[in-house]
Amino acid sequence: MKDIVTLFKELIAFDTMSDESSLSYPSSDKELEFADKLVDILHSENVANAYKDEYGLVYAKVDNNKEITIGLIAHMDTSPELKGGLKNPVIVNNYDGSIIKLNENYSLDPKEFPFLNELIREDIIHTDGEHLLGGDDKAGIAIILTFLSYYLSHKGEFNYNLAICFTPDEEIGKGALHFDVKKMNSDVAFTLDGGSIYEANYENFNAASASLTIKGVGIHPGSAKNIMVNAALLGSEFINLLPKDMVPEKTEEREGFIHLTEFSGNVEEAHLNFILRDHDSSLLEEKKIILKNIVNTLKEKYNNPKVKFILEIHDEYRNMFDYFINDMKAINLINKAYLNSNVKISYTPIRGGTDGATITYMGLPCPNLGVGDFSPHGRYEVVSLTQMKKMVEILKELYK
Ligand SMILES: [Zn+2]
Repeated sequence: MKDIVTLFKELIAFDTMSDESSLSYPSSDKELEFADKLVDILHSENVANAYKDEYGLVYAKVDNNKEITIGLIAHMDTSPELKGGLKNPVIVNNYDGSIIKLNENYSLDPKEFPFLNELIREDIIHTDGEHLLGGDDKAGIAIILTFLSYYLSHKGEFNYNLAICFTPDEEIGKGALHFDVKKMNSDVAFTLDGGSIYEANYENFNAASASLTIKGVGIHPGSAKNIMVNAALLGSEFINLLPKDMVPEKTEEREGFIHLTEFSGNVEEAHLNFILRDHDSSLLEEKKIILKNIVNTLKEKYNNPKVKFILEIHDEYRNMFDYFINDMKAINLINKAYLNSNVKISYTPIRGGTDGATITYMGLPCPNLGVGDFSPHGRYEVVSLTQMKKMVEILKELYK
């Protein structure tokens, strides 16, 4: 296997942007080509059972005659927010905390991007200002492949079998759509898809979406008195009855929210879409009740059979914490690995979803580990090569 820096540069040179507008799976052929490339790399390391399945997911397993198998998962696609395929990344060794000029138009200033202060004295890699870097999640792939190579030549050191999966379309919310727990054939797994390696995650939001359709009563405005009921105005009345502070822009950490994502309407009909998020599942239920109660209040107030409020609520994903609170096996593995590596770990709640949560509820417990990627999804993305290398060492402890 090439050294981790050369390998990482090779992986990010490959454009694997996923495509939200695509109807196929995976959403782009580039991801399938990249999957083939990864299978080739695995075969060249003599992992003969590595393969790409019918959905473009790559699986591989290294059997070491152990009872328990630990799986590692990373995603192959990059965010649709900016083009990938960066050919000329820039490495800064022993970063000194100064402003980094990406190109004529863009620079990275620690005042604007405070994460840079945490990377002082580390070796980092950044973009040309025109592409995203793709460390999300090719840093994860490079770490896994580098660890795999070491594992293969030092099998006697390890107490767990190693399984690997690379998934497409994570950035468009479909990374776990065709993930197959049977093919992965592991007892626990970890996604390597995150920021600082000094943070891991086993908490994410519980999520639901809500759509509200309001039907009003339309009539010529000249003869509307006591007859017209303007659905658009009812929509704005609905919004005004929502708790004012329960919004993304006023919440942080474990505070949940009701977020209005879309509002359109006229006299006849109005549409409102919301997303509901909370780390606490009972508080998520309360948020659903808030919406239902406002509907009831307005129904009573207008008390007109022609005026209709149609509220539909759908659950989206669940907080994996509710699983881990009863089974800390995977978290204990992380704690042991960091302790033995002499590296401090803290756990932060994700204010969003993660494929690991979906996979956890498929029956394979799957917390998330960091890869040293910062400010992803754009030109200001930076990866710490120092942290990537350290993560490989932590994985060695994880499998011991
Ligand atoms: Zn990612």
